[in-house]
Amino acid sequence: MIIDGKKAAEIIRNEIKKEIFNLKKRINKIPNLTVILVGDFLPSQIYVKNKEKSAKEVGINSEIIKYPKNISEEEVLKKIDELNKNENISGILVQLPLPEQVSKEKIINAIDPSKDVDGFNPVNVGNLSSGYKSIIPCTPLGCLLLIKNVEKNLSGKHAVIIGRSNLNGKPMAQLLLKENCTVTIVHSKTNNLKNECLRADILVAAVGVPNLIRKDWIKDNAVVIDVGINKVKNKIVGDVNFDEVKDKVKAITPVPGGVGPMTIACLLKNTLECFKAHQI
Ligand code: NAP
Repeated sequence: MIIDGKKAAEIIRNEIKKEIFNLKKRINKIPNLTVILVGDFLPSQIYVKNKEKSAKEVGINSEIIKYPKNISEEEVLKKIDELNKNENISGILVQLPLPEQVSKEKIINAIDPSKDVDGFNPVNVGNLSSGYKSIIPCTPLGCLLLIKNVEKNLSGKHAVIIGRSNLNGKPMAQLLLKENCTVTIVHSKTNNLKNECLRADILVAAVGVPNLIRKDWIKDNAVVIDVGINKVKNKIVGDVNFDEVKDKVKAITPVPGGVGPMTIACLLKNTLECFKAHQI
């Protein structure tokens, strides 16, 4: 089975759209998402534009604040403080990466955890790892929703996650742990990566190495989620060698068209949740 991330994301977006429409009728307010973009890094510009477009399509008001790449850290922190205090703003997102004079750590820490739609603030990270209610980072949340569309009950499954980033690998592990999976996280210093992958009922690859995972790394009937986005000869490919693996698995996400669309849908979902927490 090829998992259709576009379709799954569309279903989520339609639900959000409907809910915002009803909320607007009831309380005459809609969510506001503010995105801060620093510098002129092209992929960031494209991501931010896509986020704004998707937000508007579901009825979220979205504003992009753009700063030049030599902006001071103080200036960005001042803006975040202003947005934190503004009752009309439901969600704040600072697009990464940031230029070196602006500390990612300070910026993430400065965002009000209740408006942190990316779920990167340590308060949200801590809540997630404690098993409490929290805002969940968009990509791992999207992956979990896709996995659960295939496997309703994950209890007792062995999940192997390749990659230990704060953005993907670590929150993914927390989410699967909460679903009662037995979780293994592997990374660039892991000995015998292939043997670890072969134990996976659920395999999530968030590495950034094109076609790293081959057919003989995969257990029969595994569910494979490919987070990787890699450009190879002007083509976007994942971390999994899709053509080799697809006939061996129970289900697999393609790249593109798998996890990517879910990331944006989950950003909209988080923005709506933040809005509801503030307004209802
Ligand atoms: P990252 O911060 O660079 O982390 C990559 C992880 O992979 C690290 O933990 C690293 O190990 C591990 N790794 C690297 N090479 C490895 C190897 N040969 N064998 C085993 N592990 C290896 O990357 P990220 O931000 O998590 O992103 C991962 C990928 O997902 C990228 O391709 C990115 O573009 C993509 N992505 C996609 C979406 C989406 O919406 N689909 C969203 C975000 C990111 P160490 O920790 O030991 O260095």
